[in-house]
Amino acid sequence: MNFSIGNTRGSGVLVSNPVRSSCPVCGNEGVSVSAMTVGHLVTDEFRNLVLGDKYRVCMAKDCDVVYFDNDSEGTFVKNQVRVPVWFKRDANPKFACYCSKVTEAQVIEAVEHGARTVSEVNAATGTMKNSNCRENNPLGVCCHKIIQEAIDKAKLGIVKTD
Ligand SMILES: [Zn+2]
Repeated sequence: MNFSIGNTRGSGVLVSNPVRSSCPVCGNEGVSVSAMTVGHLVTDEFRNLVLGDKYRVCMAKDCDVVYFDNDSEGTFVKNQVRVPVWFKRDANPKFACYCSKVTEAQVIEAVEHGARTVSEVNAATGTMKNSNCRENNPLGVCCHKIIQEAIDKAKLGIVKTD
């Protein structure tokens, strides 16, 4: 495995040291995520390495790190996560709703066909059915916001489907 990412130990022991919430590779501030989400989304061979309980997500598009916990020194990169991570570069497919496996392109297509709200997109594409976002979405949060953002993008014509 090309698992060569070095972990950085903070020099101090202060739990509140802001550095501890930063990605050990790119230094970006991480977003909190539950260990349960991490445990569900890393591939089977890495699941028993999910030991921490203060995981964060690195949202930097170009950073390979998805999850890190600087206390337990656990770091998981893109190819150790079982789904394409939508906010990383080259995610393919780019899911808007992980629970229903609906892509951002499908949401945009629905908007181009007249859907204007999240509930209209839900009706058209089947997003947000049987939601279990805590286990399925890499951020462990409801995909509502991602769908709304995709709708906004489509309305502005920022993203065009082929
Ligand atoms: Zn990073």
